Amino acid sequence: ERKKLSKLKKTPAITLDGVEIQLLANIELPEDAHAAMEVGASGVGLFRSEFLFMGRTGAEAVLPTEEEQFQAYKTAVQTMKGRAVTIRTLDVGADKPLDSAEHNILNPALGLRAIRYCLKEPKIFLTQLRAILRASAFGHVHILIPMLAHAFEIDQSLAMIEQAKQELRSEGVDFDVNVKVGAMIEVPAAALSLPMFVKKLDFLSIGTNDLIQYTLAIDRADHEVAHLYNDTHPAILQLLDMTVSAADRAGIPVAICGGMAGDIKLTRLLISMGFRELSMPAAILPEIKQEILRSDIGRLQPYVKKILRSYEPKLIQDLLGVIRTQEF
Ligand code: PEP
Ligand code: MG
Repeated sequence: ERKKLSKLKKTPAITLDGVEIQLLANIELPEDAHAAMEVGASGVGLFRSEFLFMGRTGAEAVLPTEEEQFQAYKTAVQTMKGRAVTIRTLDVGADKPLDSAEHNILNPALGLRAIRYCLKEPKIFLTQLRAILRASAFGHVHILIPMLAHAFEIDQSLAMIEQAKQELRSEGVDFDVNVKVGAMIEVPAAALSLPMFVKKLDFLSIGTNDLIQYTLAIDRADHEVAHLYNDTHPAILQLLDMTVSAADRAGIPVAICGGMAGDIKLTRLLISMGFRELSMPAAILPEIKQEILRSDIGRLQPYVKKILRSYEPKLIQDLLGVIRTQEF
């Protein structure tokens, strides 16, 4: 079975009815890009850059410098040999603390994290943006902003990127002038105000881990409520459907980079809803590809339409079981 999967490395992920799906890898450190290449990923759909900032000890305890970050991003970009690398800007804060002062926040997931943190620490943000832009001269880079919810956060993020570009330009430093900027859709408010996003950004990427946490009001780090974490709750399916529809209408790409993208039980559902880019841990990618190769979207769609119209969890589960086992 393993050998069969590795033979699929160069096979594009195309359904039986001819729809190509881009399968991308999630990485945490630049060296993870090798695993992405190993499984034949079309690119890196999510580089969680916070791992360069966390768990630093001793002489490294300070934040990574622009140069250190540049080298890390460049390594990932060069390893991917021209395939797109989507670098998510720093997603730290109350729930992924950089310093001990952030440890005792009452509701860390609702606190100062991700873009909220970066806009409050513009020096840290600007340093990272400069490093990412510099790496964009060495391949194909996209910038992805986490946790956006407000129009002013979009505007300020874009203004900071513009400022970083201006600085590099005046210093004569190379970068890709056309680098695409996207928004993570992971706060329900974002999924409910998509026109605000598609107007200003080049692409969307859904973070289902946080989208589920915030929509169902269950702390993703709290084991006591783990049993309530339900990725096929009708509310989640509606938000996903709204997001793929809004992106399609606006003519911009939309990916899923949260855990749902790497759950083989959901692959047929997601591609039949219209998702064409799924980003996941590299290890699971070959199996997801195999599932796509034996799927027929045209024949799955009637079932998926029923799922999206249904507000009965039992019926949703039954229909998911049907599409999962459908042979074509
Ligand atoms: C998500 O929220 O789904 C996501 C991809 O980001 P993270 O898991 O790093 O918060
Ligand atoms: Mg997230």
